[in-house]
Amino acid sequence: MPSIHTLQEVWPRALEVLTESLKRRSLAKWIPELQPVSYDGATLVVSVPTPFVKDWMEGKAAPLLSRKLSDAFDAPIAVQFTVAQLSLSLEATEPPVTPAKRPRGKAADDGFFSSLPLNPRYTFEQFVVGKHSQIAHAAALAVSRQPGRSYNPLFIYGGVGLGKTHLMQAIGHAALRENPGLKVTYVSGDTFTYHVVTSIREDRFGAFREAYRDVDIWLVDDIQFIASRERTETEFFQVFNTLVETGRQIVITSDRAPKDLQILDPRLSSRFEWGLMTDIKAPDLETRIAILQKKAALEGTPVPDEVIRYIATNISGNIRSLEGALIKVLAAHSLSHQEITVSLAMEQLRDHSHGPTSRLLTIADVQQMVLRHYGISLDDLTGARRTQNLVLPRQVAMYLCRQLLNASFPEIARNFGGRDHSTVIYACTKMEETMKMDQQVRTIVDELASRLQEAMSGRG
Ligand code: ADP
Ligand code: MG
Repeated sequence: MPSIHTLQEVWPRALEVLTESLKRRSLAKWIPELQPVSYDGATLVVSVPTPFVKDWMEGKAAPLLSRKLSDAFDAPIAVQFTVAQLSLSLEATEPPVTPAKRPRGKAADDGFFSSLPLNPRYTFEQFVVGKHSQIAHAAALAVSRQPGRSYNPLFIYGGVGLGKTHLMQAIGHAALRENPGLKVTYVSGDTFTYHVVTSIREDRFGAFREAYRDVDIWLVDDIQFIASRERTETEFFQVFNTLVETGRQIVITSDRAPKDLQILDPRLSSRFEWGLMTDIKAPDLETRIAILQKKAALEGTPVPDEVIRYIATNISGNIRSLEGALIKVLAAHSLSHQEITVSLAMEQLRDHSHGPTSRLLTIADVQQMVLRHYGISLDDLTGARRTQNLVLPRQVAMYLCRQLLNASFPEIARNFGGRDHSTVIYACTKMEETMKMDQQVRTIVDELASRLQEAMSGRG
């Protein structure tokens, strides 16, 4: 469909919407940094100054912006954000982004040393603790209460989108709430590297080190980006030592374990072992449900339990995609005024449910898991006998096939002794009701679903 609108038409409206949301959150300082990049009739691309702003925009501004633009131009318009070239944005950084707190009047900004602001959403209150993150969370809490005195450094590692940045910033928020005089500095490995590079170019290492001297809590996100760059490592090592020696707190995140980082200087890797190293894993089903519930509550939109369960069951990889899936469903709901139902979610998440989990899992896997749990045979499970002790397992199995595999009703029917597919529809509807009423059944279904998924991810 050829576009009838141009970037020149769309951008002013977009800027208006973005300006409004940034102002509402006292983030107006970013407004001048937003630049239109392109518009192809379907997607508007906007350039933002830092990865942090990109993250914030994607989470907070994109759904609203896309909705407003689609309304204004009467066509579906998606929005994407891209980080401006570092050199461009930093060249222009005469007064840089100032840290949220500039306490005690020390450590004046010297033109290049800047801390990224903390994301207001990344607090302990908004962090759901599950088995996957229990230790990391406990350690983070301890550190926020007694910075520099419990685990130093605290090193949190794990895959993408599992909550490392969130947890790290929660430490900053909590410590500041406790003691607003603290100087909390958040940098990504990338930003730190950039600071080092600029300092070399401009011969400003004195100022560079000075700027780091007053930091009380140093949050270094994604340290993998500084590894294997000799000068950057050296500077990091210096700052690290100075801070630890003066009792300041350091928190580090990484996408891999310290031993897997390609650190050139063995003295530096051994420093990481001074404190506590802890990982965050992928959340289990129960935690994914809790996260979605919290997220839906924060969005202020009531989402039925079975929809939450559907999303949590089908999106298992990381928390960012889990959030993304929920947002997608909520957006469809508010754009099209459709009720939030499992079928709406199914439609919205069609792409996701072809993920590795659902491709690998087969109806036979589900049947095996269920029949073993109930101690019955395959013939019992798929046969025609309607005794009570067989009906429930059968319904559970059909329901799991539907939920986990997104299998069609006729396909399920074929695999359960060639019944009529209306029987399967009935079974699945019935299960949803049973689960609403019966906590015990719900627990069993969740347990089976997560065991199946674990078995699958072990396979992949
Ligand atoms: P990482 O830094 O590990 O890549 P993030 O901290 O950026 O991951 O988390 C990705 C998204 O998921 C963020 O929006 C974050 O708020 C959310 N998130 C992650 N873990 C949790 C959790 N345990 N509870 C609530 N939200 C979470
Ligand atoms: Mg991160």
